[in-house]
Amino acid sequence: MTPRREPNVPELTQIELLGLDIQELSELAHSHGQPEYRARQIFEAIYPQRLASLDAISTLPQQFRAVLKNQGVEIGQPRIEKSFQSTDGTIRYLMAMADGETVETVWMPEGDEGESGDGSEAGDRDWHRATICVSSQVGCAVNCQFCLTALLSVKRNLTAGEIVGQVSAVLNDRGVDLERQRVNIVFMGMGEPFLNYPQFMKAVRLLVEGVGFPESRMTVSTSGIVPRLADFGGEPLRPKLAISLNASNDDVRSRIMPINKKWNLGLLMQAAREFPLRNRERLTFEYVLLRDVNDQPAHAREVVELVRGIRCKVNLIALNPGPGIEFGTPDEERVQAFQQLLARAGVPAFVRRPRGRDIYAACGQLKRTVT
Ligand code: SAH
Ligand code: SF4
Repeated sequence: MTPRREPNVPELTQIELLGLDIQELSELAHSHGQPEYRARQIFEAIYPQRLASLDAISTLPQQFRAVLKNQGVEIGQPRIEKSFQSTDGTIRYLMAMADGETVETVWMPEGDEGESGDGSEAGDRDWHRATICVSSQVGCAVNCQFCLTALLSVKRNLTAGEIVGQVSAVLNDRGVDLERQRVNIVFMGMGEPFLNYPQFMKAVRLLVEGVGFPESRMTVSTSGIVPRLADFGGEPLRPKLAISLNASNDDVRSRIMPINKKWNLGLLMQAAREFPLRNRERLTFEYVLLRDVNDQPAHAREVVELVRGIRCKVNLIALNPGPGIEFGTPDEERVQAFQQLLARAGVPAFVRRPRGRDIYAACGQLKRTVT
């Protein structure tokens, strides 16, 4: 068993169990002369049971645990360094990785991916479902002009274990029993998941096969890394797909999302059209409304043309403001007018309620803001 060696991921002296699949755990067991079933015991302990320390894995012989510890083996669940609670129940977690890098993960009780739009608020005590928003990279290289994460640029990719570990740490902190409570995962935190594709996909498989999330309760959002869209469509097991459209023509999109110069709307929409949707599945387009930039009726009409013929819905998000962001938030009437124009043209459109804006936990606000 050697420590993981991935491009763009630091080599650690510790070996972290989180992130290893059942085959890799078998190799670990064999390399220690342990029987095959030890792999399954470790798998059960670190994924469905979400144990955070070797000492807690009581199914393993004490001596084997001691050997592992001596070799620097750890479970590797990120440590919750700080948490901030919003008036709406949303919690923003600052998570520390083994090398000291930090990312943010957000818990939204009653989070519904923003589709109900009924404005109801539920207290922390009697929620029935929740959403966890997970980060995939430390920072982000894509540099969208309206996003606070972009200001960090990218420090490194997260490993599959660090992605899964965010979910486990939040579930433990909230005392969640996945058999009784319904939790969704959105890969919409810091980073561009499709620029960390292998680790992101490995995390998805571990969340499904290990932690116990059905793939139908996960959604990944991409800014439009076109070659990865085809790969993703071919995955036997995958979350639902959301594409950050954010503009209705190339002029505006290139201005606010520089990635559009590499893969423009023509290429992006072609990939979206070719994306193999499953039975009853719809693609989601996200559209951040920026005052006077992309929020006019003419833009809404262009969106209608762009998505024509694609089984989809559009999630509208009024800009969540932040320091260093030059754009303004459109007023409510403008947002409603945009939504209604889409809806009347037969494009299902939903206005996403901002969650945790007061604590910088809303979309595009994740930046390791400590206060
Ligand atoms: N990197 C991926 C996923 C994380 S961003 C992506 O860009 O798709 C998740 C969503 O937040 C994206 O749809 C993005 O367009 C949106 N977003 C970014 N900054 C925002 C802001 N300041 N206000 C509202 N939404 C924002
Ligand atoms: Fe990265 Fe997404 Fe922010 Fe763009 S919106 S900078 S892709 S995290």
